[in-house]
Amino acid sequence: MKAAVVTKDHRVSIEDKELRPIEHGEALVAMEYCGVCHTDLHVKNADFGDVTGVVLGHEGIGVVKEIAEGVTSLKVGDRVSVAWFFEGCGHCEYCVNGNETLCRSVKNAGYTVDGGMAEECIVTADYAVKVPEGLDPAAASSVTCAGVTTYKAVKVSNVKPGQWLMISGLGGLGNLALQYAKNVFNMKVIAVDVNEKQLAFAKEMGADVVLNPMEVNVEEEIIKLTDGGAHGAVVTAVAKSAFNSAVNAVRAAGTVVAVGLPPESMDLSIPRLVLDGIHVVGSLVGTREDLKEAFEFAKEGKVIPRVQMRQLEEINEIFDEMEAGNIQGRMVLDLTK
Ligand code: NAD
Ligand code: ZN
Ligand code: ZN
Repeated sequence: MKAAVVTKDHRVSIEDKELRPIEHGEALVAMEYCGVCHTDLHVKNADFGDVTGVVLGHEGIGVVKEIAEGVTSLKVGDRVSVAWFFEGCGHCEYCVNGNETLCRSVKNAGYTVDGGMAEECIVTADYAVKVPEGLDPAAASSVTCAGVTTYKAVKVSNVKPGQWLMISGLGGLGNLALQYAKNVFNMKVIAVDVNEKQLAFAKEMGADVVLNPMEVNVEEEIIKLTDGGAHGAVVTAVAKSAFNSAVNAVRAAGTVVAVGLPPESMDLSIPRLVLDGIHVVGSLVGTREDLKEAFEFAKEGKVIPRVQMRQLEEINEIFDEMEAGNIQGRMVLDLTK
């Protein structure tokens, strides 16, 4: 079967790969779609360590083709997801207290185990979340990472209905953060991006205000507009400056949710943190339950991912477009052909 494999020189090659037979508790999935997340770009660039040889992809959707013994949660024909949170140990403190994505023995699709940018993928059945009937599978692929991650991050911001949320970075994740914040949680949203095309897209998606840090002082504008600062911020931008700016743009007791993964450090003034009671918190994808909820809102039409179908062979081109900032919404690999 064809698969997108990370190479030593930080590119991706489409290779013919033979999968091992499935084992107890596993299912074999015939992949239909897989979105291209900016995390895939970090992974293939070795931003989190060298993973030469791994099959990329954690926004995967496919149909179960075969189940091994011991599988009770899935049957042949079910449509399921292949997500970054591929498997936890199931018994550590994180797995049992609602923070399973932080399991210290976690497996991540397209990073520590082979992912969904392939014609077929082996999943751990109990961890492959089912896609509800009535949700378009290509749209579901975006929810599998971008959607669930931002749905969770918006929850973690603790912003209440009617209050102001700053969203920094309106790419694949940010436009879904915007839709969850507006259409599910009824927040007011200030969209911040350095790219005018992303801001136009955000406006179209319902942002109340759009700001470009290349043109205005975002922090001053937000403080003025919200009478003291945003109640929270979700930062998906892949730039340290965006994190620093969010810390300055929230009001006292505000929460900055860090989602983007630029491989660098942010500045954090200790007096600002302490005297103004700012919360700065990292948020990593979402649990299986979060994904179920995120799927439901998409199924109800409250969140509509903008997707464009591409071929597996175009993966390197897509990464180049992503690096150049030329993608609105998500590029999704069509694996059905
Ligand atoms: P993307 O490339 O689609 O979007 C990034 C956006 O950030 C673009 O619109 C870009 O114009 C904008 N941006 C860049 N510099 C900026 C700045 N200084 N200020 C404001 N905006 C700026 O990427 P994506 O797929 O949305 O992923 C975003 C980040 O989130 C990546 O680092 C990815 O690895 C990470 N991510 C994290 C999680 C998690 O669980 N925490 C999950 C998925 C992705
Ligand atoms: Zn992702
Ligand atoms: Zn665990």
